[in-house]
Amino acid sequence: MPGGGADGLQLDCVVIGGGVIGLAVARALALAGREVVLLEAEAALGSITSSRNSEVIHAGLYYPADSLKARLCVEGNRRLYDYCRERRIAHSACGKLVVAADAQELAYLENLLAQAQANGVPGCRLIDGAELARLEPQIRGFAALVSPSTGIVDSHGLMQALHADIEEQGGTVVLNAPVLGGQLTDTGVRLSVGGRDPVEVAARLVVNAAGLDAWTISGAMTGLDAATVPERHLARGCYFSLTGPAPATRLIYPVPEKGGLGVHLTLDLGHQARFGPDVEWIDAIGYDVDPRRADRFYAAIRRYWPQLPDGSLQPAYAGIRPKVVGPQGGGGSDFVIQGPATTGHAGYIALYGIESPGLTASLALGDYVVDLHRDAVLERYV
Ligand SMILES: Cc1cc2nc3c(=O)[nH]c(=O)nc-3n(C[C@H](O)[C@H](O)[C@H](O)COP(=O)(O)OP(=O)(O)OC[C@H]3O[C@@H](n4cnc5c(N)ncnc54)[C@H](O)[C@@H]3O)c2cc1C
Repeated sequence: MPGGGADGLQLDCVVIGGGVIGLAVARALALAGREVVLLEAEAALGSITSSRNSEVIHAGLYYPADSLKARLCVEGNRRLYDYCRERRIAHSACGKLVVAADAQELAYLENLLAQAQANGVPGCRLIDGAELARLEPQIRGFAALVSPSTGIVDSHGLMQALHADIEEQGGTVVLNAPVLGGQLTDTGVRLSVGGRDPVEVAARLVVNAAGLDAWTISGAMTGLDAATVPERHLARGCYFSLTGPAPATRLIYPVPEKGGLGVHLTLDLGHQARFGPDVEWIDAIGYDVDPRRADRFYAAIRRYWPQLPDGSLQPAYAGIRPKVVGPQGGGGSDFVIQGPATTGHAGYIALYGIESPGLTASLALGDYVVDLHRDAVLERYV
């Protein structure tokens, strides 16, 4: 780590967490001219939730207008496609179909279309079952919503590019550097960093982007009002991969279920199909995929792909959604991005509940955090 002395290191900005969100925030701070150190607990970047998702570039269909999810997803979608083209990150604007199985579900699609339009998502339209069958001959439905700006991205390529940008701007990424706790002080934040070479650091600004662990870090931050920290709920999503060729060229989604978008068909960049994620509320972090969950997958998938062969689904992997609202509250909520006005401290910004569409929103979210900090600084001096 740069700098140093008996009293610990004096730093400008520290970002805790090297998933796609911490990387995007660190990049945005570095591009804004700040000196940035990113601390990642693991031996590699992006090995937790950022490696355990669908890699979908979401369009921004589902979220309430003006929510952070809607704004950052729609802007993030556009920014991500531009960034992928500029940095030659593998991606595909393959498009997506949200399929209504029957006439009752059509009402949902009509509302979804209105929501997408309110959110500024380009190019969405409704099609009937016959057009659906022409577009994707193996997929069945009463009607579908076409979302042309949905796509897929190589999330690891994205994170590598973000990492390279941080270093090019003079920032530093430190692996095996778990933040154990800290203290909010008059001049910034002090942090205790563990690992092989434990160290105390002081920073003017700390951004807590530790994903599932953001709550633990805030809980270990002396001087932070515990009332600012939201509840934490965990919803695991399991995936099953398909043996055999993919039945569609676009992503296929059913109408959503509570807490998730429903068991959908996503494609990887090699055109292999996988299905998921489902929603399983859990108390402790664990990534095992119970093969018995396949039964529900067969049933859910056959609603839109009736010819799914028996025995063709294999347990693949799971990811965990960090949520601020649990099953009792319906599981849905916005991103919680607390700037200084909410944390009560000019030097501490905390991010909670950065579930889907976090990957899509990452570039826009990075700039949003920089603006939050800039506004707080201006307020203090103007
Ligand atoms: C099942 C599932 C499917 C999803 N699908 C999509 C999708 O298709 N499209 C989309 O846009 N979004 C999707 N998402 C959302 C997206 O994956 C997340 O929003 C995003 O990856 C969150 O990134 P993050 O950096 O906040 O968290 P993480 O990737 O978890 O990164 C947090 C980092 O903090 C580190 N850390 C933790 N504690 C400490 C500590 N004490 N000190 C230092 N470092 C620490 C961790 O090691 C980790 O690397 C999905 C999420 C899930 C769960």
